[in-house]
Amino acid sequence: MRSGDKLKAYLKDNFGYSTFRPGQLEIIKTILAKKNVLSVMPTGAGKSLCYQFPAIYSNEKTIIISPLVALMDDQVASLSHLGVSVSKIHSGLSRQENIDQWKRFANGESNILYLSPERLIQPRMVEALKRFSIGLFVIDEAHCISKWGADFRPDYEELSKLKDIFPGSVMAAFTATADRATRADIVEKLTTGECAVHVKGFDRPNLSLKVSPKQNLKNNLLAFLNEKREQSGIIYCLSRKETDETCAFLKANGFNAISYHAGKTSEYRRVAQDRFMTEDSAVMVATIAFGMGIDKPDIRYIVHTSLPSSVEAFYQEIGRAGRDGEPAETLMFYGLQDMVLRQKMIFEGEGNEKHKLLEYKRLEALIGYCESTACRRLALLSYFDEKVLNCGKCDNCLQPPTVEDYSDIAKILITAIKETGQYFGVSHIIDVVRGAETAKAKARSHNLLDIFGTGGTHSKQLLQSIIRQLIANGALRVNLQKYGALEISEKGYNILRENEKFLAKVVPKVLSPVAKVSPNSTISKIQNNPELFAELKKLRLNLARERSVPAFVVFSDKTLIQMANDVPLSENEFLSISGVGRTKFEEYYHPFKEVLSKFKEQKN
Ligand code: ADP
Repeated sequence: MRSGDKLKAYLKDNFGYSTFRPGQLEIIKTILAKKNVLSVMPTGAGKSLCYQFPAIYSNEKTIIISPLVALMDDQVASLSHLGVSVSKIHSGLSRQENIDQWKRFANGESNILYLSPERLIQPRMVEALKRFSIGLFVIDEAHCISKWGADFRPDYEELSKLKDIFPGSVMAAFTATADRATRADIVEKLTTGECAVHVKGFDRPNLSLKVSPKQNLKNNLLAFLNEKREQSGIIYCLSRKETDETCAFLKANGFNAISYHAGKTSEYRRVAQDRFMTEDSAVMVATIAFGMGIDKPDIRYIVHTSLPSSVEAFYQEIGRAGRDGEPAETLMFYGLQDMVLRQKMIFEGEGNEKHKLLEYKRLEALIGYCESTACRRLALLSYFDEKVLNCGKCDNCLQPPTVEDYSDIAKILITAIKETGQYFGVSHIIDVVRGAETAKAKARSHNLLDIFGTGGTHSKQLLQSIIRQLIANGALRVNLQKYGALEISEKGYNILRENEKFLAKVVPKVLSPVAKVSPNSTISKIQNNPELFAELKKLRLNLARERSVPAFVVFSDKTLIQMANDVPLSENEFLSISGVGRTKFEEYYHPFKEVLSKFKEQKN
């Protein structure tokens, strides 16, 4: 048998999949050939298999470093379910449990050990590990090691000592997000230079993208969610308060909503996460404290009620949807206030000037994405240097925005900014342009300016949109040292002097409710037997509860959909379903066969 065929047979037998996903085999072979590797693959591409497979196949001692307890727990549950013996040591376990886990690893009962970076780097742990021959170190979420990355963590930086302490071990680093500078940094920190780098496309064709102005947020959110009552998703909010409020609102509207943020106790968060992973149609309303390492394959939508911090952060957050490859939707609500707030957060945040400049650039890129009139996928992926064709299913593809010459309104706004000394923020400028006799306008005599009231016929909504687009296009900038005052750039003066036209998206007079983006939901994929699918899901939930594991650890939605379609009764038919390997076959064939047979009998 060729080595590829042998590995493929091993894959089906142990993981239940009949084929490798793109890139997986190449990475597995590199690791098995004892070469270091850095792999950049989008979320959901199947990174875990790339290191779990060689660890199991080679049977060498493997350390998997992962930043989050939740992620470790899920992976350990999944592997144990495949019949693989694994250990984990982390802060969520008692001292005695951690000792027992270590003993299992030390005495060879398990050869795979999941560790958090801070545990690994403790001198006692390093000394203890030196006694073994560690074949492979896996560093998950490896971008955390780099200050250039989106999520630098000092305890990750400590991992750069590993290459000297364990020179004979293979280093395999994985991340979903790393631009060129970050990649070079990861390689330098983890290896002495010898490292194969695999970058797999960032394209996630099953995700559809939509951006909507942040107006009438609650109604628009409901309009979006109403047709998704049967599905699971995440709603990201900016603050803890907004998280709790949105969660209460959704609960009052009959959703199985759960709130999650760093202000909750760790016990609450553990239960909340368990509920999200196990219960059907759960909506997690959360701050970004939730999500890293969440390995739930059937998240069908991600909503951002506010602007995320950068394109990388946005890409990572939406990447949590549709890991099973089935269609999933993303929707971001975006408004001027959020944009200013985000800039303020960078301005007041930690880090030196260079770092802040980089953060501004990242935010700017995201604002560009929001205001783009082109295909969203194209706009998003061009940031990662990837060229793709129009997706045909984002909001801009489905309803291409009309672009018009808005130079006249732009000129009125820029004049108002100029005449008020470039000292005021968005709302005051809009008041001046619309001729609102506010106390502030009178106190500053702005009601006496020529420009006062010259844009009185334009709606606030339109003026806000034009200002947003002027900022996105670089004609205006927000000066945070002057508390968010709008300032005019060279480009802005060019528009004022009529050297340049200002073309912008037309703002509809009445905002339509958030339209349905994706025509095909998971449910529509169950062509044959939706009632059987519901029964299979029920069985899966019961089995998962008995075993205290998330439902997808038993079988993914994809596997259940195939079962509902094919109704596999014989052993061979059942084994041929994607996701059914040897161990799962032994454990689940009988209970599932019972449901499948009953269905067949009733049908005949
Ligand atoms: P990542 O870590 O890259 O975000 P995961 O490793 O969590 O992605 O994999 C995403 C999903 O794809 C999981 O449900 C996993 O079981 C599934 N998967 C991985 N490899 C394969 C494969 N070769 N065939 C089918 N499904 C796969």
